[in-house]
Amino acid sequence: MSEIRVERLSKRFNETAALDAVSLDFAAGSFTALLGPSGCGKTTMLRLIAGFEAPSEGSVFFGGELMADPQRQVPPEARGVGVVFQSYALWPHMDVAANVAYPLKARHVERGAIAGRVGAVLDIVGLNGFEGRRIEELSGGQRQRVALARCLVADARIILFDEPLANLDMHLRASMVDAFRDIHRRTGATIVYVTHDQAEALALADRVAIMSQGRVLQAAPPQEVYRAP
Ligand code: ADP
Ligand code: ADP
Repeated sequence: MSEIRVERLSKRFNETAALDAVSLDFAAGSFTALLGPSGCGKTTMLRLIAGFEAPSEGSVFFGGELMADPQRQVPPEARGVGVVFQSYALWPHMDVAANVAYPLKARHVERGAIAGRVGAVLDIVGLNGFEGRRIEELSGGQRQRVALARCLVADARIILFDEPLANLDMHLRASMVDAFRDIHRRTGATIVYVTHDQAEALALADRVAIMSQGRVLQAAPPQEVYRAP
């Protein structure tokens, strides 16, 4: 059963076709990397799935239910999607626990339940005991883990990543690749992961969708994807 389906999805910005009639299914629990050069439409696809943009043409479905077409859009907060961007929008003056707890507070979850849940997700991302640290004291990699924890705390069935490793050094990237794999295994969430890094896509995803000029050229498991010499 496909958890996400985009059908003949197009997005135009003035004369630019950022997405050009793309149809693609994302199976429940799958990990898809959207791979391609800068400007090929990866982020636009993610933003249309998240609901930050409306389609010019075509539709987005979650579990067969219409989320968006040019006439009607379910707002992002009603889609139950977790989003992690490279510019991790954390509150620098607040501590780790407060940042991670934010989505639960917004939903009026009970205090006691919040503390337990925050501890559990900090454990998953390897930030056990960091509850009271302020964001501005943390390294880039640690901040990215906080952003990941904040995304996980809401228990989203769909998680969207937009170049989450782009600002990190090589060593941190490697450790985060392991963290992403672990999170996918533990949560069973459907993951869509945007990157322009072929090695990263091949290492992480169970399917790689290669994009060029607003289209998907190929969507296949890593071992079937053509590797340029
Ligand atoms: P990628 O994520 O692969 O780098 P994007 O989806 O960000 O690509 O962009 C695809 C194309 O759409 C690019 O040509 C980009 O300049 C254009 N584009 C994206 N967002 C906007 C916008 N808000 N306004 C105008 N053009 C945009
Ligand atoms: P990108 O790096 O892909 O361009 P940004 O992080 O710059 O993405 O965010 C672009 C836009 O997406 C922002 O204007 C913001 O309004 C919206 N956005 C980003 N994250 C969220 C979120 N968690 N909830 C709602 N809107 C968001």
